[in-house]
Amino acid sequence: MRDVVVIGGGLSGLAAGYELEKRGARYTVIEVKARFGGAIHTLPAAGFLMDGAAFAFRRLSDEALLQELGLRRQQVEIADGIAVFAHGTKTLLDALASRLHGGRLLRMAVSSIGVWRGRFSICLENGMVLDAGAIIIAAPARYAARMLYNLAPAAAECLSRFRYDSILRLSLGYKKCELPADIATLADAACRFIFATDAPARLPSADYRLLQVGLRAADGASPQAMLAAARKRFGMSRPPAAWRSHQWAEADLLCPRDSKHAAAMRRIRAQLPAGISLIGSDYLPPAPQEAGIARLQERLDAGRAAAHDAIAFYQRRRR
Ligand SMILES: Cc1cc2nc3c(=O)[nH]c(=O)nc-3n(C[C@H](O)[C@H](O)[C@H](O)COP(=O)(O)OP(=O)(O)OC[C@H]3O[C@@H](n4cnc5c(N)ncnc54)[C@H](O)[C@@H]3O)c2cc1C
Repeated sequence: MRDVVVIGGGLSGLAAGYELEKRGARYTVIEVKARFGGAIHTLPAAGFLMDGAAFAFRRLSDEALLQELGLRRQQVEIADGIAVFAHGTKTLLDALASRLHGGRLLRMAVSSIGVWRGRFSICLENGMVLDAGAIIIAAPARYAARMLYNLAPAAAECLSRFRYDSILRLSLGYKKCELPADIATLADAACRFIFATDAPARLPSADYRLLQVGLRAADGASPQAMLAAARKRFGMSRPPAAWRSHQWAEADLLCPRDSKHAAAMRRIRAQLPAGISLIGSDYLPPAPQEAGIARLQERLDAGRAAAHDAIAFYQRRRR
């Protein structure tokens, strides 16, 4: 019997799992993919270490947590208050995942959630059913909507209406001498953001620089076409030494910029049964206009707070 089930093994779910582990709770983190990390992953390409999703982030401020995770020296500042990880953002996810010694289920998708005799039942697509005293859903809105369809149809309906922007992330490895001197000035309406790092572990040699560019993707445009457009726009006559593109439907939520989103989130939360919480990118309060700068600390804080609330909930129920 579990105290808490966490659905989704991205940054938010792992942060929740980490806190449950520290607090000695009986928990299981369920992740549909074969690896933990969710949207965040770091991949090698011709001597570069490229990030699939969050690359540049507002510097993590929780020194105690960084110490616990052995990451105090891993943040490399690239601009005022903005950092990258020396070995890629995956470093943070790996550090959290390696500390989860409770239940971990990979390659298991949650299909629906129900209630049975005062406890939650979590149905997996393979027919398995788990029970739990509390649930933390750490999956994007459209997946959460499917899980909640029977239990909380009004909330599921609202979640299924979330809309996303289509920003393509291009990671580009270039020789420094082939790049414009001040890349920060290149950002405009179509190029949502551009960040660069010279962190040695992420480059084949000190002659190179790694960039991540966020481009609003035209409908149907291929990554190759977007790369060609980016090169033309930035005046890079030579092709990059290495590149990767990353696009994912849920990368950029549109509604946090909508003033009605906070109210919609309050309604959704009010429609959920007590003991179920929603955490993750899709549910954070509106962000200041900081295109491309990941808010990792907020996701960690939200995951850990949800773990505290879940423990408090099932302890109250048990009394
Ligand atoms: C290409 C891309 C670029 C991004 N760039 C940025 C950026 O520049 N800045 C920024 O702040 N954020 C960015 N993001 C958002 C990014 O998602 C967050 O930074 C962070 O990774 C969110 O973590 P999360 O745990 O909330 O969600 P996710 O990482 O999406 O994790 C959710 C997890 O739930 C799992 N899951 C879903 N359904 C089920 C199910 N039914 N059963 C079990 N598991 C399930 C998924 O497989 C996934 O692992 C980007 C995302 C993408 C995809």
